[in-house]
Amino acid sequence: MGIFDFLSKEKYDLNTLGGIEAIEIPSYKPLKGISSPTENIEYILQRKATEHKRNGRMDLAIACLRKANEIFPCSNFLWSPSDYLRLVEYLKQNGQFDEARAEEKKINDLFKSNVTIISDLGKLFENCKSMNTDLVVSSDIYRVCSECAKNTRRIFSISGKDKRFPVLPVYFFLNPPEHGYCHITFYPFLYDISDPGWDYRGSLLTWCNRPFTDERTLEQKNHFKKWVTDNEQEFIDRKNYDFLREFIPDIAPKSFGGYRRMKILKSEKYIKLCKAASIREINLNEQPDFSIYHF
Ligand SMILES: [Zn+2]
Repeated sequence: MGIFDFLSKEKYDLNTLGGIEAIEIPSYKPLKGISSPTENIEYILQRKATEHKRNGRMDLAIACLRKANEIFPCSNFLWSPSDYLRLVEYLKQNGQFDEARAEEKKINDLFKSNVTIISDLGKLFENCKSMNTDLVVSSDIYRVCSECAKNTRRIFSISGKDKRFPVLPVYFFLNPPEHGYCHITFYPFLYDISDPGWDYRGSLLTWCNRPFTDERTLEQKNHFKKWVTDNEQEFIDRKNYDFLREFIPDIAPKSFGGYRRMKILKSEKYIKLCKAASIREINLNEQPDFSIYHF
């Protein structure tokens, strides 16, 4: 008996497919204070999946993660996309690429519907209403594009009726893809009471109406560009690595890390991989398209 069998208090059979599938979705009480989810069955299932994988039982490991994903949305703990995506990675490692794609789509849809812009904007407006203010303050963010940089460290009027401040630009809340790497946030602001949370020169009113220019330092600009470039390149490399392990598994590197290392080194093995991939019209040296971003 493993430690997780002990943790699950023998209530569950986590060592057979039937036992894992039979686990019902629990109805949880809210977590209080700094409690952790380590006694939750979805947590135990995740740990158990690691144990099954180590023992070469990918079928049981995948069943555990599938069940955990089913329980996550009903949990009293907020599980992140990466917790859900473990199932996708395990399916790929087990050669089940069609199922991996189907699960990945399900997870993306789930998170897309959870973070609708309307609700973010709605929540901000609701908070402003309850605080009886028409004003919001934008945060001071280090990593933003040249467009968003024009709007950091300001106070805006939501309705536009308060002529002392500029009108809140609504584009932030429409989640345009070109701002996918910008995380500028807004908070309700009470004139004469709230602290803006950043330094400014002169009067606050004049400061908030200063020219709308890109005020980033060279260091900030470089940091933003590198952040976007690295992430977009990793996205392409992961897509290509998935292609290799699905369609050319006999010569595909064992791990994504290994693949990236040989790509940087441009090793002989990598050049061989490129040739094999290009026969299937896949370019492993593909560059990301940055044209939409405001560097
Ligand atoms: Zn932006």
